[in-house]
Amino acid sequence: MKRVKRRTIAVIVLIAMMVTGLGFYTVRYALHGGEWASFISNGNAFSGGRLKAGRIEDRNGVTLVSVEDGTYTYAESETVRRATLHAVGDKNRNIGTGALWAFSSRLLGYDPIMGIYSLDGDGGTLKLTIDSSLNAVAYEALNGRSGTVAVMDYTTGEILCMVSNPSFDPENPPEISEDDTSGVYLNRFLSSSFTPGSTYKLVTLAAAIENIDGLFDRDFHCDGRMQVGADNIVCTSAHGDMKIEDALAVSCNCVFAQLALELGADTMAEYADDYGLTSSFSVDGIATAAGRYDKAEAGSIDLAWSGVGQYNDLVNPAAMLRFVSAIANSGRAVDMTQIDTFRIGHGSERIMSGSTAERIAQMMDYCVSHTYGDENFPGLELRAKSGTAEVGGGKDPNAWFVGFIENEEHPLAFVVMIENGGWGSSQAGSVANKVLQAAVNGQAG
Ligand SMILES: [Zn+2]
Repeated sequence: MKRVKRRTIAVIVLIAMMVTGLGFYTVRYALHGGEWASFISNGNAFSGGRLKAGRIEDRNGVTLVSVEDGTYTYAESETVRRATLHAVGDKNRNIGTGALWAFSSRLLGYDPIMGIYSLDGDGGTLKLTIDSSLNAVAYEALNGRSGTVAVMDYTTGEILCMVSNPSFDPENPPEISEDDTSGVYLNRFLSSSFTPGSTYKLVTLAAAIENIDGLFDRDFHCDGRMQVGADNIVCTSAHGDMKIEDALAVSCNCVFAQLALELGADTMAEYADDYGLTSSFSVDGIATAAGRYDKAEAGSIDLAWSGVGQYNDLVNPAAMLRFVSAIANSGRAVDMTQIDTFRIGHGSERIMSGSTAERIAQMMDYCVSHTYGDENFPGLELRAKSGTAEVGGGKDPNAWFVGFIENEEHPLAFVVMIENGGWGSSQAGSVANKVLQAAVNGQAG
């Protein structure tokens, strides 16, 4: 009897071990099967390091690239080809964040139960969330200037537009020398960080709303410069007496530098971290570039400039888009996606209280009506903040324009950043208007 019992236990233990082992294998397979399937040495799917078959289309079914027997055929329109290059990827895999490479397992028709099922070489079709005609509008609006334009639905996280320039025609890839410094293979939206300039005042503002009592009743004053130690914070002109709403609308450096000094480096850094501006996040598994906020000494000119988006501040454009999307979406940042059917792990995170988001949105509305001009954005319920970020080295500043439109049918947030583009509101603002008009009025096609 005792022996039977012992045997039963032994069998149970053995079964338990097998089940655990199988479970372990199943989990590993589910997690990594796609990677195994698309591993570059898999001769069925790849040939000489290149994908043999598959097709990528935009949200409207427009073919962006189709691969047959290792031959790549891109979109018909050259503008579309250039405008979607960084989203789609090049045939030589120089743009690793392009869908061709970042999502190759999906292109191969990878299925966690069946493994690769397209061994005959047809490949799968991958549908992206981008609208290629909207990308084309954004690409043309950049008019040859380096930078990035992105638009996303702040309620679903779908990226509708994602353009990075410089670009090239993937049908006729140019020879690019090894010491090229233009960063042509870089998707500036996902993989770069830039000095944010005055767009960063939104971060300082949020921290001030939540930490400085009586902020909205306070009287501020600007003489055009503010002495901090032996140095000066300067404004473009003397802004005079104002409340906080006007300080944001006229983008007064002295006021926001003062707020940063009062908040202190620890609080400023905490908000930058909480809003995801200093860390990398995942867009369908692609890690974005992290930004930077360095804690400067208390009372220093560096701390003062850090509240104005200068000093060592760096922000990745995707992180900036996520931040303004949360302001638009009552404080909730929805996970970004560029794959039309991607739903695994799709969630959202509250990064800001609803009341703080509401207050900032109202002030961004006031920025548009008071400074940028409603007439420059006809028909759009635009909430925005510009930035003209000094980059040094005798170069023109980076021009930023970020925000969203309050429109239930078109809940869109955007980021426009033009390197050495000059004045933020006029240069980047006009690009934003062209793209948003196309998105809302269907002029994109
Ligand atoms: Zn000022």
